[in-house]
Amino acid sequence: VGEFELIESLFARLACARMGWATVGIGDDCALLPAPAPGKQWAVSTDMLISGTHFFPDVEPDSLGHKSLAVNLSDLAAMGATPKAFTLSLALPAINQSWLQGFTAGLDQLACAHEIQLVGGDTTKGPLAISITVIGEVDLNKALRRDGAQYGDDVWVSGSLGGAALGLHQIKAGHPGAGLEALVRPQPRVKLGQGLVGIASAAIDVSDGLVQEAGHIAHRSRCGVRLFWHRMPLHPDLYDIEPDLQKTFALAGGDDYELLFTAPVGSRKTLIALGAALRLPLTRIGEVSTGHAVEIIDERGQVLDMPKTGFDHFLSATA
Ligand code: ADP
Ligand code: MG
Repeated sequence: VGEFELIESLFARLACARMGWATVGIGDDCALLPAPAPGKQWAVSTDMLISGTHFFPDVEPDSLGHKSLAVNLSDLAAMGATPKAFTLSLALPAINQSWLQGFTAGLDQLACAHEIQLVGGDTTKGPLAISITVIGEVDLNKALRRDGAQYGDDVWVSGSLGGAALGLHQIKAGHPGAGLEALVRPQPRVKLGQGLVGIASAAIDVSDGLVQEAGHIAHRSRCGVRLFWHRMPLHPDLYDIEPDLQKTFALAGGDDYELLFTAPVGSRKTLIALGAALRLPLTRIGEVSTGHAVEIIDERGQVLDMPKTGFDHFLSATA
């Protein structure tokens, strides 16, 4: 099959491509979308995944389809937006039908779960790469941003930390284990993000390591962030490993896709109720402080030596 048959026989037929929200979806030069509802605005984000950099070339195609969309939905979650539409750009070395079936099945399942419509994309030949752009709707001027943290706010994180980094470590060591699920099938916290609108003062998703993400909030909000190591919600399989690795995975490991957010002290009860309603643990791990840096305090009240910080594509090339 060629490019056009592929688009018509595969992409255009996915359940997520046939949702009917867009005025025009796949098939014309552009997709045509309705205007945002009154009192709403669009939130748009793109994430690209490159074979060998973001995933192992032999990863299960179904998991890769899931993760490609999940990391994008996570950005919408971090701003409190509701997913509406996405585009899918693919560079493929060859047309491998069974690989494509698996990839689109994983993608379609997550897209349908979040009711986000595939409205277009591009398909070219080249080293395997996937770029997705998501469009979401958010209350006008109410999106969760990185720059709203206030001195005295609590710092919270959803779910658990370090699972994906453990999974990656296990694969590299040649024995995939308990962290694999966290690494290959992250769950974007879309419902949580929506629930945080009007409550959280700032938010970010944890894609490149907790300390690095906290640093982004500190930098953009012009404040400090103090985190308490003994309060961190570690991934259950992190309790068995040596303390140094534990800290590296939980504080500097990437790919967890939890939400890190700040909120006024007065919203604690509301947040505990929100976590219970979503059946998602929300843990208060620190506070917004003076200064401009992130510091981590251990159980004895000492400042912890920071493990090497999170991932940076360009810095790591020279490290
Ligand atoms: P053009 O030449 O104008 O870029 P294409 O032939 O690339 O158009 O695409 C034809 C239609 O198929 C467009 O509506 C485009 O958005 C859609 N499309 C192409 N590739 C994909 C893909 N991987 N996923 C979803 N839609 C796609
Ligand atoms: Mg094209």
